[in-house]
Amino acid sequence: MAILIDGKKLRNKVNEQTKLRVDKLIAKGIKPGIALILVGDDPASQIYTRNKHKLAEKIGLKSDLYRFPSDVNQETVLDTIKNLNEDDEIDAIIVQEPLPDHLDGIAITNAIRPDKDVDGLHPTNLGKLYANQPSHYPVACTPRGIMRMFDEYDVELEGANVVVIGRSILVGRPMLALLNNANATVTLAGSRTKNLSELTKKADILIVATGKAKMIGADDVKKGAVVIDVGINRMENGKLTGDVDFDAVEPIAGMITPVPGGVGPMTIASLIAQTVDLAEWRRNG
Ligand code: NDP
Repeated sequence: MAILIDGKKLRNKVNEQTKLRVDKLIAKGIKPGIALILVGDDPASQIYTRNKHKLAEKIGLKSDLYRFPSDVNQETVLDTIKNLNEDDEIDAIIVQEPLPDHLDGIAITNAIRPDKDVDGLHPTNLGKLYANQPSHYPVACTPRGIMRMFDEYDVELEGANVVVIGRSILVGRPMLALLNNANATVTLAGSRTKNLSELTKKADILIVATGKAKMIGADDVKKGAVVIDVGINRMENGKLTGDVDFDAVEPIAGMITPVPGGVGPMTIASLIAQTVDLAEWRRNG
């Protein structure tokens, strides 16, 4: 039986640590602030944004929610970001994805000040990550949460053979860089990777972020491997499932994350923790 990597338990621990840091900052007169920008009425985006807002407030942050209708123009969003960039009480700016097609998401990401880019998607921060610079910079919150899991569960990264499936800018690409910076040997696979199962069967650590429900089965995993399931898929019966067939893989894996209750809770805890990092770095807290 695999060790279950408990994302909820670790999230609670991270949130407690973050709260202590916030209390210290507040005692110095610094209240970390996050601005959440939500465009349109996509139900999932509304839930994600509301959860971030609620957690930020619970932990003692200033949290400002900016809601725009789905037909908002580019200029209005850019003007809002410009004002938030200049607002000293705001340490972190997050624009909830996906954006409507008429908006230029790249221009919007690039408009956020790199030192307030809590999603770690600005090219300046991505460049620092890829160059493995020794300075402070934010990184994408899902990979950050996964790195925290590895740390908590003493997963050895140095020299490990890691396969990451899914190469989005939010998950797979920053994951590749973080692991490589930690001296793992990383393969980043996508939909056109040939003989994927041959690769995954050799992985000491397998990270799956495709959005394809249960695509990884027992035959795809090495005995004792650490399996991290990022996928969130809603099944016809309304239940959530990951990209890994948990019941089939769990008896083979050495460690495994469940869905729900694995990577998801860590992403939001990482977002709030990283907001506090940004406040400390920018305001010398
Ligand atoms: P994207 O749709 O942006 O990217 C999916 C990636 O998976 C692409 O790189 C694609 O390859 C690859 N892929 C798709 N099908 C296959 C396949 N059959 N074999 C190999 N690779 C494949 O997704 P995201 O990264 O945004 O999200 C992935 C999943 O993770 C989703 O279920 C999402 O809901 C979830 N998620 C969960 C988070 C959490 O906090 N738990 C946070 C973010 C996402 P190619 O590049 O070749 O097209």
